[in-house]
Amino acid sequence: MQKDTAVFSLIQKELERQRRGIELIASENFTSLQTMQAMGNVMTNKYAEGYPGRRYYGGCEVVDECEQLAIDRLKQIFNLEYANVQPHSGAQANAAVMLALLQPGDPILGLDLSMGGHLTHGSSVNFSGKLYQPHFYGVGRETGTVDYEMLEAKAREVKPKLIVCGASAYSRDWDYARIRKVADEVGALVMADIAHPAGLIAKKLLNDPFDHCHIVTSTTHKTLRGPRGGIVMLRKDFENPFGIKDPKGNIRMMSSLLDLAVFPGTQGGPLEHIIAAKAVAFGEILTDEFTVYAKQIISNAQAMSKAFNDKGYKSISDGTDNHLLLLDLRNKNISGKKAEQVLGKADITVNKNMVPFDDKSAFVTSGIRVGVPAVTTRGMKEEHMQFIVDSIDAALMNADDEAYLSSLKGKVNEFMTQFPLYPELG
Ligand SMILES: *Cc1c(COP(=O)(O)O)cnc(C)c1O
Repeated sequence: MQKDTAVFSLIQKELERQRRGIELIASENFTSLQTMQAMGNVMTNKYAEGYPGRRYYGGCEVVDECEQLAIDRLKQIFNLEYANVQPHSGAQANAAVMLALLQPGDPILGLDLSMGGHLTHGSSVNFSGKLYQPHFYGVGRETGTVDYEMLEAKAREVKPKLIVCGASAYSRDWDYARIRKVADEVGALVMADIAHPAGLIAKKLLNDPFDHCHIVTSTTHKTLRGPRGGIVMLRKDFENPFGIKDPKGNIRMMSSLLDLAVFPGTQGGPLEHIIAAKAVAFGEILTDEFTVYAKQIISNAQAMSKAFNDKGYKSISDGTDNHLLLLDLRNKNISGKKAEQVLGKADITVNKNMVPFDDKSAFVTSGIRVGVPAVTTRGMKEEHMQFIVDSIDAALMNADDEAYLSSLKGKVNEFMTQFPLYPELG
């Protein structure tokens, strides 16, 4: 067969884009070469509906071993009784949990999307807001941190079946114990969606959600630095308290309800090639090298926060505990949309983001979200954060000067040559 040069030249172009730019999208990262290479393998050819040792297809003995390895490594990372590594994405993991726990129309309570929450936590445009009855808590206008009193009051008012914590654009840690307390009071279960900070939680650099939250979900491609995918986890298995029965009418343990909800509930055949790459990434997370990496993420985020502060930028909650900052650009007289466009011209990639109580729409926004997991993987340390912040500030202060932005792009590209990305790929 002839090589598909149309597609492979685009892949090469994307590699060059990733190499030359400063990647600050907080949900992105660069997998190791071996994790990436594990994705492109013959396991993509295999149908393996079911779980290791109980499949609906023959010839699964090898993928069984590989999926079990991924499960065992994930259990070791977070000290778990149960893990499901099959969800194709974070959204799929959340869909499976809700299918396992809830009946259509049941009330759920999550962080408002416009305050840092995620679409799958009850947004009206998402299955979670269409199938269930969504309610929201928010952050304090002054503090920028989760308003736990509001969360408690809402929980008592709407009696949710499920309280969801975790966020996509929130720079602070969570008080899981406090959420569990009100959940017990109103008869709700708690799901922590740690899609963003999972890599930091894996290394105990943030509060541990597992002892307080009944169920924990995550993506595998953000701070966990694995392939694009999702996972569902339990530290302790337990009997489903809502008396939800499996399709045969039996009361089941949460682990088996979750397995059923992933397959056949929301997915068909698992992506065994991706699961192989998850196993590789989980193996890397168990090393001391990853501990060093996770600590560096936090140091870099702190250094970046200070550098932005020194230049008069405002971040929501005035700083960060994790890997990201949510900047409110209103005092700099530039919208999030414009900032994203302008920075793009200098090969600095960020995403526009609504800030809490934003007066601009989701398409325009008053803020940008900046995260350091990807640049930390490239090898940057605290001292490199100043260059990034200086470059961002210079771009935003010269937003309409095309010649300036183009010369800045040259400097950014030159700077990035210090941090080789996939040099083995030529
Ligand atoms: C990124 C994210 C997800 C969704 O992950 P996908 O893999 O894009 O579906 C879910 N929840 C939170 C909090 C996230 O940040």
